[in-house]
Amino acid sequence: MNTVITGATKGIGRAIALSFAEKGYNLCLCARTQGDLEALQSDIFRAHPHLKVHIMAVDVSVKSEVIAFADFIKATWSQVDILVNNAGVWLGDHILSEDNDGLLEQLIQTNLYSAYHLSRHVLPAMLPHKKGYIINICSVASTQTYLGSASYSISKFALLGFSKALREELKPHNIKVSSVMPGATWTNAWKGVDFPAARLMQAEDVAKAVAAIVELGDSAVVEEILIRPQLGDI
Ligand code: NAP
Repeated sequence: MNTVITGATKGIGRAIALSFAEKGYNLCLCARTQGDLEALQSDIFRAHPHLKVHIMAVDVSVKSEVIAFADFIKATWSQVDILVNNAGVWLGDHILSEDNDGLLEQLIQTNLYSAYHLSRHVLPAMLPHKKGYIINICSVASTQTYLGSASYSISKFALLGFSKALREELKPHNIKVSSVMPGATWTNAWKGVDFPAARLMQAEDVAKAVAAIVELGDSAVVEEILIRPQLGDI
């Protein structure tokens, strides 16, 4: 399976990349930091020398870079089987904070437009084959808002809306669209917070849920997955 993952060098994206590598899937990965991509490529190659791992440094908040990444993917593979729109950032804010000018735009560009543009430009490598998966990493903040996470929540509600709309549009093309909504998960995003390790989920737990999406038979689709820490939201 030819699999594209955005934001693949850390956290949830990295866990998904490693779990798909375990399954023997070829990978095309992006993030902004070239050194991290090369290190991940080497790690995967050491464990799975037969796999093809392609990398490209991309800032998914910039439309022209997303389109260049899609062109790179299509030049590499004539068929894409799985696209995981994972790259995203959390930045806290209140709608009324005066020093947050431009933050909503930044989060919408990174968390929403990235998935929208990449899906549109990768789909030509999926549609003719009448199969495939687009997996959008949304959030529990796609279903409810949290005080102090206003713009993030707005962007993740919108990402879920995009994912649901794409699901409807791609039904007749036999391409499955899934929205994955994790709760608090130990990644860089939580660096510096002081909770017991067991309070948050592990990125590997989210990766296990994502891996299950591609295990169903042809006539079934996982539309949504909501996963929370056992003790609930923080
Ligand atoms: P993370 O540990 O901070 O990792 C983010 C990854 O995305 C890194 O590989 C990062 O590499 C890349 N990235 C960030 N901004 C990018 C950009 N503009 N262009 C390209 N790549 C970019 O994040 P995470 O916590 O795993 O989050 C992954 C996804 O899960 C996000 O969409 C997030 O909203 C969602 N999520 C996370 C949690 C949580 O609690 N962790 C909960 C719900 C949903 P570079 O910095 O090198 O670009």
